[in-house]
Amino acid sequence: MRNIAKKSNTLDILNKYHLTAAKKYGQNFLVDPHIIEKIASCAPITKDTYVIEIGPGIGALTEALALRAKKVICFEIDERLKPVLADTLADYDNVEIIFEDFMKADLDGLVTSLHSDDVCVVTNLPYYITSDIITKVVTAQSQIHHMAAMVQKEVALKLTRDKSPLTLMIDYVGSIDYAMTVSKNVFIPAPHVDSAVFTITKERTIPLDLCELIKGAFKQKRKTILNNMKPFFNDVRKALAACGIDPTKRPADLSIEDYVALNQERRNHES
Ligand code: SAM
Repeated sequence: MRNIAKKSNTLDILNKYHLTAAKKYGQNFLVDPHIIEKIASCAPITKDTYVIEIGPGIGALTEALALRAKKVICFEIDERLKPVLADTLADYDNVEIIFEDFMKADLDGLVTSLHSDDVCVVTNLPYYITSDIITKVVTAQSQIHHMAAMVQKEVALKLTRDKSPLTLMIDYVGSIDYAMTVSKNVFIPAPHVDSAVFTITKERTIPLDLCELIKGAFKQKRKTILNNMKPFFNDVRKALAACGIDPTKRPADLSIEDYVALNQERRNHES
């Protein structure tokens, strides 16, 4: 099928399969081929690229990705979509759908098995689980070099402006950009708020002990770094002093370089 995202085509598919959007899975289907094209072009996809898509829904974005990429591998949690996707994507032999909760999937195992350094993630994310999914991709230990994701506009703004454990991890692995705003009116059903697409370029992987330290630092984000770092060091004052960090600072006042230094201090101390 061509142009799944055309509104009349989406409505036909939903009717044919008596399908209603499942709220619990955050289902809002995109019904604007123009927007689909723009999202797909947010990622550097060529005929050599493996694309991982989280939540293909009825295949609207998947189709645009399949036309660009070497292969599209999708994770979909909703088994009701099995016959639908088999139908809508029947013309594309470079699409594989894994019916599994992405949060339980062995992402690194999959990426490693591709033996490629040209792997990216493109997704219109289910809103109930946005930051967990982004964190999983950002902290992946395998070679994923790019992510383009649609989220609620508010979330994209926070990711590109505020400091949080996730944005610090993004700072470490590469960079994030706000790509575009998407009106809530191009979805069925329409969500309450507008969406936005962001892109992350990953230049390196992040050590898992650094992730653990950053998460720990924000456990009580209004408390001082001295307080939050206590579980990580025998002599936390000494560790902070060795890194030139003011112990009265809050976790969001520290840069990623500060956290890298602290983590090194912790490693030195442990070994
Ligand atoms: N890609 C489609 C589109 O753009 O029209 C659908 C996007 S919809 C916002 C989110 C999709 O993610 C749904 O198909 C939903 O079933 C799926 N989903 C929700 N939670 C998931 C999870 N944990 N793992 C994999 N897929 C999930």
